[in-house]
Amino acid sequence: MRPFASCRKNGSAARPPSARLFATWCHNPETQATKQELLFYQKKCIGCRACESACKTHAHRFENGTHEIDRTLCNDCAACAEVCCTKALAPAYTNKTEADILKDVQKDFAFYGKTGGVTLSGGEPLMQPDEVLNLLKALKSRKLNTAVETCGFFRSGILPRLVPFVDLFLWDFKDSDDERHKKFVGVSNTPIIENLLHADRLGANTVLRCIMISGVNMQKKHYKEIAALWHRLKHCRYVELLPYHAYGGAKAVALGRKDNGNIKMVPSKEELSIAADYLKACGVKIKSE
Ligand code: SF4
Ligand code: SF4
Repeated sequence: MRPFASCRKNGSAARPPSARLFATWCHNPETQATKQELLFYQKKCIGCRACESACKTHAHRFENGTHEIDRTLCNDCAACAEVCCTKALAPAYTNKTEADILKDVQKDFAFYGKTGGVTLSGGEPLMQPDEVLNLLKALKSRKLNTAVETCGFFRSGILPRLVPFVDLFLWDFKDSDDERHKKFVGVSNTPIIENLLHADRLGANTVLRCIMISGVNMQKKHYKEIAALWHRLKHCRYVELLPYHAYGGAKAVALGRKDNGNIKMVPSKEELSIAADYLKACGVKIKSE
């Protein structure tokens, strides 16, 4: 039984422009854009050329036994994905209304039990704050547990309305060093920490999720700051250490981008246990993989 069904980023309306942040190491690059994108998994392609006929912009190229997509011609309409029988082509997301999502959730109702529920994930679900709030209200009215995975970077005004409908926030804390945060994530960590403290004052239950990236943030100074933050939070259940992995690289390639996976940033077991031991010694409740 899965404790939480995962409800991905899709809402009823087009996603509104909002502040976004992309970590350099992001393993879900298909959730970054606010417009549709086409994923192409070359290894799954059997060369049937059905996509070529479906594409009005002639973006598919079959030359010298290879199949390429000219992304400069592609308007991400996803018509080619509809005819691809091997799922080598796929749209990055599917639009769903609140009713669609509730229908999907309802299908698994028998499996949720007392502790199961729905996790809103992404991307960043709070890029669509009103849609997320309405969905959470609908889920709570069906007596389902709710969780929200967030990077913490969103407009704080939503928090007082949001917190009563969220049983648990899975809150990213990528780096305590603000300069490094700006360099690798693209924004300051200050609003993320402020939002977290604000949510905590409102009584929000949280799990602090700290990605561990070798050669970037696996330093005692960072662990000390994690511990300091933990001690400021009254409702944080535990800190989760998430080792970086390089699997997102394949999806970046499928989007026609550079492979962003970097095996050198995967932490060793020893590095992870040093981090966990340090935090435990600082009085932090830890969950590590
Ligand atoms: S429709 Fe799919 S399997 Fe067929 S050529 Fe296009 S990508 Fe390959
Ligand atoms: S997404 Fe649309 S424009 Fe792009 S390759 Fe497919 S059919 Fe052509």
